[in-house]
Amino acid sequence: MGARAKTARARSRQGEADAPEGLCGPVPEASGPLGSRPGTRFVVHRHAASHLHWDLRLEMEGVARSWAVPKEPSGERGVRRLAIMQPDHAVEYMEFEGIIPEGEYGAGKVEIWDKGRYALEDRGKGKLLVSFEGRRLRGRYLLLNTAGKQWLFFKTGE
Ligand code: MN
Repeated sequence: MGARAKTARARSRQGEADAPEGLCGPVPEASGPLGSRPGTRFVVHRHAASHLHWDLRLEMEGVARSWAVPKEPSGERGVRRLAIMQPDHAVEYMEFEGIIPEGEYGAGKVEIWDKGRYALEDRGKGKLLVSFEGRRLRGRYLLLNTAGKQWLFFKTGE
């Protein structure tokens, strides 16, 4: 390989490394043991992309597990929301607010709609029972995997 090609490849790799955190950033290495201790962080981003949606992110195993929720999450018991699993994000992204520029994936305004702590109360195959202590999300919610990347997200029980 010629020196010029090598340089171009190195530049392109560097470009990737420098790319701003988008919706599909590199999946970070998971760290720490499986499972979440109580008091782990969550955030919900309100993301005014081409289609307005809410991004639920749970800090888990060293990454931000993420779901895109096309309708505003409900505080009413049993009001189900579709939640589509997204690639893991870096936990640093949980603090992000700002504008993703035109031409980039997910272009539009990102605001923190809610944030706080959660406890993972139960975890089964395709099921997470989560207790939120946020400003908007409070109490127990279920995340149920229905098919592929599709989950249901709703408030449950007491
Ligand atoms: Mn999004």
